[in-house]
Amino acid sequence: MRALVTGGAGFLGSHLCERLMAEGWDVVCMDNLSTGDLANIDHLNGQDGFRFVKVDVTDYIHVPGPVDRVFHFASPASPIDYLEMPIPTLKVGSLGTHKALGLARAKSARFVMASTSEVYGDPLEHPQKETYWGNVNPVGPRGVYDEAKRFSEAIVMAYHRYHQLETRIVRIFNTYGPRMRLNDGRALPAFMSQGLRGEDLTVFGDGSQTRSFCFVDDLIDGIWRLSESDEPNPVNIGNPAEMTIKEFAETVCELTGSKSSITYLPLPEDDPKQRRPDITRAREILGWEPKVALAEGLKRTLDYFKTKVDVTDA
Ligand code: UDP
Repeated sequence: MRALVTGGAGFLGSHLCERLMAEGWDVVCMDNLSTGDLANIDHLNGQDGFRFVKVDVTDYIHVPGPVDRVFHFASPASPIDYLEMPIPTLKVGSLGTHKALGLARAKSARFVMASTSEVYGDPLEHPQKETYWGNVNPVGPRGVYDEAKRFSEAIVMAYHRYHQLETRIVRIFNTYGPRMRLNDGRALPAFMSQGLRGEDLTVFGDGSQTRSFCFVDDLIDGIWRLSESDEPNPVNIGNPAEMTIKEFAETVCELTGSKSSITYLPLPEDDPKQRRPDITRAREILGWEPKVALAEGLKRTLDYFKTKVDVTDA
């Protein structure tokens, strides 16, 4: 079996490539390296059956030979990245999804779309079930990501219905783990690097907004199961253990052993107030639920960040 992974040098993409290689698949890893990093796939490069190509998926893409699966994981995925790259974010979700679908159709490959909990926007239903249509501000700063992913879902379903393409849609909730970019602006890398450097942790707003954090290995296992299933409708994959961002900051701070305190900064526009996946569908259809407890996942992530943070000036 042979897979194409767009965004394969990114945080999730690289873990997915690794899992596919472990399953004995050949992998073509495609990335334009705008937020991805070759260091994430260093250990795979040179292995039999693995190939990296530096390509922007919003351009015409070509992969010689057979392809059995296309995993479309390319996109900036952290709020500061898509605020800095609003147009590439819209393009990769729209034009990029179209190109990747076209390739899947030409190769008769199954298509797996990396969608997101952001399709629910600032949700008025809690926890979020797949049947919820969401509460997204299309013209707000996050709209570039949310609407691109909503468009992706729509075009994936159109290819499924109109071209009978085999498709899967995974709605990914907040995920953390090794290979997140230290400076990607998301809560976990920010808190870990601040804690390790002995700086104050920057909590946005009053920290009462909630998120539910899933360790990357659990998430990848859910995606693998979904890609092997015959479910064409969206499936939430995430950890339902919900906490406030203030609690999360305190937990990370304690783990880093830091004496830092918390600084409160303004809440970014349209920052969702609460988020927790309802994973009934994943449990029933995939027999999947997360296994890695927060304490264990954070410890494994901290070991990684310790190798990345220069603490000499802490
Ligand atoms: N956040 C924070 N401090 C930071 C970075 C993020 O308080 O330095 C907050 C952010 O406002 C949001 C939550 O943490 O409420 C999760 O943010 P993240 O960017 O990780 O992901 P999101 O779920 O918003 O896409």
